[in-house]
Amino acid sequence: MARKVIVLGEIRDKALRNVSFEAIAAAKVLANGGEVVGILIGEKAANLASDMIAYGADRVVVAENEKFKHYTPDGYAQALMAVIEEEKPEGIVFGHTSLGKDLSPKIAAKLNAGLVSDVTAIEADGDNITFIRPIYSGKAFEKRVVTEGIMLVTVRPNNIAPLEKNEERTGKVASISVEIKDLRTIVKDVVRKASEGVDLSEAKVIIAGGRGVKSAEGFKPLQELAEVLGGAVGASRGACDAGYCDYSMQIGQTGKVVTPDLYIACGISGAIQHLAGMSNSKVIVAINKDPEANIFKVADYGIVGDLFDVVPMLTEEFKKL
Ligand code: FAD
Repeated sequence: MARKVIVLGEIRDKALRNVSFEAIAAAKVLANGGEVVGILIGEKAANLASDMIAYGADRVVVAENEKFKHYTPDGYAQALMAVIEEEKPEGIVFGHTSLGKDLSPKIAAKLNAGLVSDVTAIEADGDNITFIRPIYSGKAFEKRVVTEGIMLVTVRPNNIAPLEKNEERTGKVASISVEIKDLRTIVKDVVRKASEGVDLSEAKVIIAGGRGVKSAEGFKPLQELAEVLGGAVGASRGACDAGYCDYSMQIGQTGKVVTPDLYIACGISGAIQHLAGMSNSKVIVAINKDPEANIFKVADYGIVGDLFDVVPMLTEEFKKL
């Protein structure tokens, strides 16, 4: 059975986040040969429609409104519900991001539908779609099927490969005007930290520091390595609690969940709550003074040593490449 599936494109800094393209790839599987419709909600969003099409959307619906300069839960829900009423899709895919995690349950409740969240893989066998998602902080995976109603899904960033970008693909772009009423919250402004670099949740390479880094200053060698590798710097809660870095960098059960291609853990013991946020990384390298540290149990490569010797050495070697 071919299905119509809509995908919410997520805009940040006037560009689409990568997870939007991964969501399109997921939507293609759900659509089973049917139509994939990209949805863009923003103050000015139409110029991003061609990107959604280049990554596989068959057409795009744009809801522009000055009230959408920043994400507003009520406003986005109103716009998306207007599109859903018009399009009557059989599936909806979001990124499993802060926005997707906030908006998707609202939409599911409005539609009286179920929600399969944090999907890392999709198996398709003809009409039958099986969603795979981690449970118990990543220690096990469960398989879910949707037996009735609309399939609402959020996909974890960095797990489902996007389709190859093809700028020659064409598709219709239409606008929908939505009357936005009774917004209960309005975001007036978003102030970013000046030093914010690569987005942690979408980074392909993450260098993470733990309590072993010992101070804010101690993060400098990690930052240098991250710069050489084009990656982002993350942290354990131990490092955040100690005041070495900002909580926005925390990875784990109560922090961000990341799945980079390469995760280098420096001075992190590997507590279960930390592993919950990074154990699905493709390659894990652990640097720790303690050969018995738990992090070595999940590491593909382990270096027993002082991070303040090892990390600068790695940086120098990578610079030569
Ligand atoms: P430690 O456990 O103190 O480990 C430091 C490591 O550094 C040690 O293994 C040591 O051998 C090594 N080391 C020291 N000096 C050096 C050096 N010079 N070179 C190399 N290695 C060195 N934690 C998270 O990370 N994320 C979460 O989201 C999270 N959520 C939590 C939720 C709950 C409800 C609870 C109870 C806890 C949570 N925690 C979380 C905390 C977690 O249990 C650990 O306390 C925390 O992860 C420990 O951080 P750490 O590994 O940096 O510190």
